[in-house]
Amino acid sequence: MSFIKFLGTAGARFVVMKQLRASGGVWLSVGKTNLYIDPGPGALVRCLNSKPKLDPSTLNGILLTHKHIDHSGDVNVMIEAMTEGGFKKRGVLFAPGDALEEDPVVLKYVRGYVEKVEVLKENSDYQIGEIPFSTAQKHLHRVETYGLNFKISPHTLSWITDTKFFPELPHLYRGGLLIIHVVRFNPIGYDPVDHLSVEDAKHIIKESKPRLTILTHFGMTMVKAKPWVVAANLEKELGTKVIAASDGMKLELEEVK
Ligand SMILES: [Zn+2]
Repeated sequence: MSFIKFLGTAGARFVVMKQLRASGGVWLSVGKTNLYIDPGPGALVRCLNSKPKLDPSTLNGILLTHKHIDHSGDVNVMIEAMTEGGFKKRGVLFAPGDALEEDPVVLKYVRGYVEKVEVLKENSDYQIGEIPFSTAQKHLHRVETYGLNFKISPHTLSWITDTKFFPELPHLYRGGLLIIHVVRFNPIGYDPVDHLSVEDAKHIIKESKPRLTILTHFGMTMVKAKPWVVAANLEKELGTKVIAASDGMKLELEEVK
C-alpha cells in the first residue's frame, strides 16, 4: 500500500510558533520505500505518536524542499532517528545546496550518518528506492526552493511547496494528485517570504487540472478561514475535487479514484 501521511499542516511563522497546527511535514510511502519530506519542528514526536506508529528507522530518505525552519527544524534529529543514532549508516538526504553550504541547517556531524547526500538542483531527476521524482525550476522564495514531481503509481503526484506565484508555475506541476502549499487566504498584505494565496491556488488548479488537489501548509489567515471551507468552495467553483489536509490525515493512494 502506498500512502501520504500529513504529520503537520502548519505553514509560516505564527501557526508554527503557536502550534495552532502541527509542523511535522509529510511521510510518503510507496511500496516498501519511505521518504520523509520537510521534517519541521515536531516531526520526530509526530512520527512516534502517530497511530499506527511511523518508525523513522524504516526511512530510506529525508528530503528538504528548502531550508526554512518550518520545513527543516527536525532534520538533524530525524537523520539520527533514521540511522539509529548514527550507528547504522542508512538512507539518502536530499536538500538544496544552500541548506548544506550557506548558513546550513543540516549539521556536519550528522551528514556522515547517511549513505548519501544528494544536492537538489532545478529540472533534475532523482530516485529513492521505488520513488522516482524530479525537481522543476527554482521557486521564487528567498532561499533555494524546489517543488517536486513524483512519477509514482497509481497516481503521479505533484508538490508545489512554498513559492510566490509565477506564470509558468501551473505548467510545471501536472500530476494526477496535486499538493499545494496555500499559506495565505488573501493575496494582498505584507508577506515577507512570498507565498501562494487561495486565488493563486485557483489559477493553478484550473490550468493544471489534477484529479485531486490537497491544500496544506496553512498560515494564520487560512486557519481563520477554515481550510476545509476554503477547499469545499474551490471544489464547488472549479468542479474538481479539492480537499484540505488536516494533522494526521492519511491518504491511501490506491483508494483515490
Ligand atoms: Zn518557506
